[in-house]
Amino acid sequence: MLSIDQLTKTYTAGDTALREVTFRVPQGQVVGLIGPSGAGKSTLIRCINRLVEPSSGAIRLGETDLVSLGSRELRQARRRIGMIFQEYALVERLTVMENVLSGRLGYVPFWRSFTRRFPGRDIENAYRLLDRVGLLEHADKRADALSGGQRQRVGIARALAQEPELLLVDEPTASLDPKTSRQIMRLITEICAERQLPAIVNIHDVPLAQQFVDRLIGLRAGRMVVDDAPERLDEAM
Ligand code: ADP
Ligand code: ADP
Repeated sequence: MLSIDQLTKTYTAGDTALREVTFRVPQGQVVGLIGPSGAGKSTLIRCINRLVEPSSGAIRLGETDLVSLGSRELRQARRRIGMIFQEYALVERLTVMENVLSGRLGYVPFWRSFTRRFPGRDIENAYRLLDRVGLLEHADKRADALSGGQRQRVGIARALAQEPELLLVDEPTASLDPKTSRQIMRLITEICAERQLPAIVNIHDVPLAQQFVDRLIGLRAGRMVVDDAPERLDEAM
């Protein structure tokens, strides 16, 4: 469970990007984060993985207070947070399998053909994940040989390989066509339900969010102005 209490972020320039944002994401729930540009969506995601320092408030993942961690504990805590990106952030010259295994490691090794250095159970787990995202037969292809939708599937498998307790998903479909976008959103929400993973998905496409997420949180000028079941958004607006 992710729990955010009274989270406020004021940038040094003086912009208050988040104002006392408070909500919890229980296991298995996928929250769609919506709102106009400048509303604070990226700031919220970045506060959770501490790429941005919160000004005040608390962020807890399970028992861990993410705000108070020193750099060493922060590295460990980040291993518990799976990230999925708009532009996939794959290593293009590596194979699909190698990209997934880099998620398990938490970094990309520089030596060649590193797959064989992994214990068998990591490899088996990576194959299981590739099967789940529909890429089993592409395991040995280079990432740059794949379509956008396939790359995002690799991104999902890589995030899962680190066995995260939380998924942070930043505009996962912004570079994809509508049909592929629906497939990717369906895959993310199904996997979160299967694994009882909480997730926050920063998503610009509100109708797409409404179709797949469990709950919508709307930000405007750093304040939470919507927190509701997706089908009730029209009444709330
Ligand atoms: P941008 O300025 O980033 O282009 P928009 O203002 O076009 O964003 O908003 C994108 C979508 O999000 C629109 O469909 C809009 O209705 C919806 N939206 C904007 N603000 C909120 C909010 N505070 N809560 C819920 N939905 C919102
Ligand atoms: P969104 O992701 O919803 O578009 P952001 O979190 O990027 O919103 O931005 C929220 C507010 O914080 C905006 O007013 C933006 O100008 C400001 N902001 C974002 N990043 C910075 C930064 N690094 N320094 C100063 N102000 C920032």
